Amino acid sequence: MFIHECATRGIEPDRSSVLGLLGYPADTEPADGISDLVDRAFELFHRTAAPRGISTVISVDEFDTIWPGEGMNDPEAVLGPIYPLADRLALSAVTLGQEVSDTITRLFDENDFAFATIFDAVASGGADRLADVMMQAHLERFDPAGEDPPGIGSLLYSPGYCGWHVSGQRALFRRLQPGQIGIELLESCLMRPSKSVSGVIVTGPVEIHRFVPDFGYCANCATKSCRERIASLAV
Ligand code: SF4
Repeated sequence: MFIHECATRGIEPDRSSVLGLLGYPADTEPADGISDLVDRAFELFHRTAAPRGISTVISVDEFDTIWPGEGMNDPEAVLGPIYPLADRLALSAVTLGQEVSDTITRLFDENDFAFATIFDAVASGGADRLADVMMQAHLERFDPAGEDPPGIGSLLYSPGYCGWHVSGQRALFRRLQPGQIGIELLESCLMRPSKSVSGVIVTGPVEIHRFVPDFGYCANCATKSCRERIASLAV
């Protein structure tokens, strides 16, 4: 079991990615008033976030008992044929802490919709960056440079995405115990604090991560984020 803490500077999302989450096309700067709100949201992020992560290495055989979850995965779930080919698996969960989520709720309750929406976007970007930093810290346990060898790639796969049913969170939480860093699993299988990310880090030959995203459930996918994730792997 490995618990990791880091400074908020290390997980600050790119401004361009935050603007993208807010619907601004690439290379577009918002009007001055909105730009000031974005600056304030970044300042608030650094005052409220308390990033932490937990991970544990598990065998493919053990993940065989976690993967089926409650029997509701899509038969074409992306991860199903990938994880048995992995060289290494690690369960992982990260969180920005409760103060970030409480602040988002308070801002919406106060009808400060514009700032609340922008701060929510900064926090979402920060949670994704934190998941990346946690994966990097995990890789550094095996290579001081924190890099996979040539031809090897690591990606995080999460319950609730790409055919892995969100109820799979329960089996993942039973094994990983993210309560140790303050993450609680709600009856709905959502996490509290809300700005948390969980999943399994799959390390193996780059080829095992490659697939054509034309599964039935892809029709409802707004982000098509798998394309960027696959492209991020060095050949
Ligand atoms: S298109 Fe969306 S749902 Fe389909 S594999 Fe890619 S990220 Fe997952």
